[in-house]
Amino acid sequence: MEGILKQPQNLAKLLQSLVDEASKLPVEGDVANYIPALAAVNPDQQGLAVATIDGQVVSAGDATVPFSIQSVSKIFGLVMAMNRVGDQLWKRVHMEPSGQPFNSIVQLEWEHGIPRNPFINAGAIVVSDILATHYSACKTALVSFVRQLAGCETIYPDHEVYLSEKLHGNRNAALAYLMKSFNNIEAEVQDVLDYYFHQCSLSMTCEQLAVSLSFLANRGVHPHSGQSICTRRDAHRINAILSTSGMYDQSGEFAFTVGLPAKSGVGGSIIAVVPNYGVIVAWSPRLNSFGNSCRAMHMITHLAERLGLSVY
Ligand code: GLU
Repeated sequence: MEGILKQPQNLAKLLQSLVDEASKLPVEGDVANYIPALAAVNPDQQGLAVATIDGQVVSAGDATVPFSIQSVSKIFGLVMAMNRVGDQLWKRVHMEPSGQPFNSIVQLEWEHGIPRNPFINAGAIVVSDILATHYSACKTALVSFVRQLAGCETIYPDHEVYLSEKLHGNRNAALAYLMKSFNNIEAEVQDVLDYYFHQCSLSMTCEQLAVSLSFLANRGVHPHSGQSICTRRDAHRINAILSTSGMYDQSGEFAFTVGLPAKSGVGGSIIAVVPNYGVIVAWSPRLNSFGNSCRAMHMITHLAERLGLSVY
């Protein structure tokens, strides 16, 4: 691993240069508009943060501006559900790439209501069902879990985004009802969706997200608190599914060009895990046709290339 990663000043300069570079790129893509509240975000923002397993946080640009983490939240839900039900979870959600858009319905019908993986919407809705049936107050449990991971008590769901998703959530409702018809949803569909929208609407900054996920780079142990967040085996497994399925239908290309376990959200963020080093978070709201942020993709790709971070 390059020496620069161990020197915060040099890393800070590199992150700043990547943010500057990204801000000068031609305007490409568009903000997510199928959730109207996300379309209201200023698209000309870009942030980049790195949290290392030795406790440093280095960042540049809009790395302290909160944004809607959307699908990145699926990682938090998954960890909570794995910790609650263990390997039982994998009877209801598989761990294969889907090769379909994140909100696709067709595959679910062919495959009898068992989603391909926990990072497509159908899979995250099953995970939400597990949380809704195993926690008496799953929304509160999620928020406390994320606050504890981020070391920050001021993390909240964005109520406007939550309402906007709820009002425009027909496709997610279709997925949930279809899975209910295959007996893969136990709770009331409306309750499961309500939790799912709440989870997606969490608002966090690049820095907070990087710190909160740094246990994935550290075999399941949170580097700040020393607390075990999940087992070493589960941290490896989550990283494996992130590698094959975290970047929507562009996961293969991302593995090919960047080579890191990663997750993207339609709020414009991408998190990437560098095992035994730390977590990178890049954010910029305009998305490409796969739903991945154009500029976040640029920043992470160039950071990984310059520092030779690929795990392959
Ligand atoms: N809340 C979004 C949805 O359910 C999440 C999508 C994403 O970020 O991939 O469509």
